[in-house]
Amino acid sequence: MGTEYDVAILGAGASGLMLTARLEKRYSVLLIDSNRSPGAKIAVSGGGRCNLCNLELSTDRYRADPDFIRPVFDRYDQQWLLEWVGQRGVAWHPEAQGKIFCDRGARSLNRLFAQAIPPGVFIAGERIVKVEGKGPFQITGQKRSYSARTLVVASGGRSFPKLGASGIGYEIAKSYGHRIETTAPALVGLTLQPDEFFMKELAGISTEVELKVGKRQWRDRLLFAHRGLSGPAVLNASLWWEAGEIAIDFLPGISLEKLQGSRQLTTLLPLPKRAARAFLERLGIPDRPVDRLSDLHRRRLRRLKAYRFAPAGTFGYGKAEVTRGGVSTREIDPYTMQSRRQAGLYFIGEVLDVTGELGGYNFQWAFSSAAVAADALNGTLG
Ligand SMILES: Cc1cc2nc3c(=O)[nH]c(=O)nc-3n(C[C@H](O)[C@H](O)[C@H](O)COP(=O)(O)OP(=O)(O)OC[C@H]3O[C@@H](n4cnc5c(N)ncnc54)[C@H](O)[C@@H]3O)c2cc1C
Repeated sequence: MGTEYDVAILGAGASGLMLTARLEKRYSVLLIDSNRSPGAKIAVSGGGRCNLCNLELSTDRYRADPDFIRPVFDRYDQQWLLEWVGQRGVAWHPEAQGKIFCDRGARSLNRLFAQAIPPGVFIAGERIVKVEGKGPFQITGQKRSYSARTLVVASGGRSFPKLGASGIGYEIAKSYGHRIETTAPALVGLTLQPDEFFMKELAGISTEVELKVGKRQWRDRLLFAHRGLSGPAVLNASLWWEAGEIAIDFLPGISLEKLQGSRQLTTLLPLPKRAARAFLERLGIPDRPVDRLSDLHRRRLRRLKAYRFAPAGTFGYGKAEVTRGGVSTREIDPYTMQSRRQAGLYFIGEVLDVTGELGGYNFQWAFSSAAVAADALNGTLG
């Protein structure tokens, strides 16, 4: 077995990298990942542009226990993150909806982290299969085994298996008696029931909508796709949708009463023409000027303001930006990220039952939770 390390970090993604960068250099640290290079998801984030965080950080943007995430963000918020990366040469700028992007893309952030990993710390291409023991932890990889006084599980969720995702974090948590909240793909497209397959014919068309799931609603773009519905409004909705109906206003901000004139509906409605034609056909409304519609057809037209249907499912983990659910936060101390069940065992990032909406909220969680764990480890390892 050989050396006993002070800290072993399982996963060199956003949270594992931030933790490595913030641990005091006097500790012996291992950062293990099945990928050949660290930061695989950072590299593809925001289409390579890296949506680092959001100026409008709020617990309301997360599917999580607000009392668990609040103390973490009280200590490490978006201003801290922006200062931290800025001081290390990563330039950034704000865009719409408070989203912050890296000026020189995801590569600049990965370069920062690559420089922050001390030589010999990163173990590449090692898939961890099992963890046992109670400090020292015995960590079994496909190539060899490792021993460490403390273990930080930073292995993310199940999304994007081709970038290294696995369920190992949940397996480790379960083996130490932790509860796992049901996991599901999130920030992902929704598939359609056969009744709504006409929307697939509109693949490639995008339009602004207001989409409601329960009491939550988003006004943003919807993209018709070959497999169903996508685009930011739908991706955000997928974080909350479990089963049952969603409601889409395809004419947000438009009052049907104010739609008048001699133009036919396909030119009058502020929808891409092909989409307008498909919806009129689906709803059995003739393509006429509004004042030549019967009462029945006017009532049917109202459905465009609240088009309700039940999606069939999601596009799955292969396409989902994140995994919702995960290690229950009830058994984790938000002031240290340490397990309340096993001393020396920590969980950070997406492996926990904390999932944000689109807009940089998931990196923020990964980085802030890692910073909290780093403080705890720096203070207790001696
Ligand atoms: C395409 C895409 C785009 C995204 N864009 C954004 C964005 O712009 N902004 C944003 O805020 N969020 C974005 N996200 C979400 C964000 O990437 C994640 O929420 C974040 O990376 C989670 O960090 P983490 O450290 O918890 O996990 P990860 O970054 O997923 O890191 C976990 C690491 O653990 C490793 N690992 C897993 N199992 C094993 C094992 N058995 N053995 C060894 N290693 C293992 C994995 O290889 C991985 O490198 C995006 C996600 C995707 C998929």
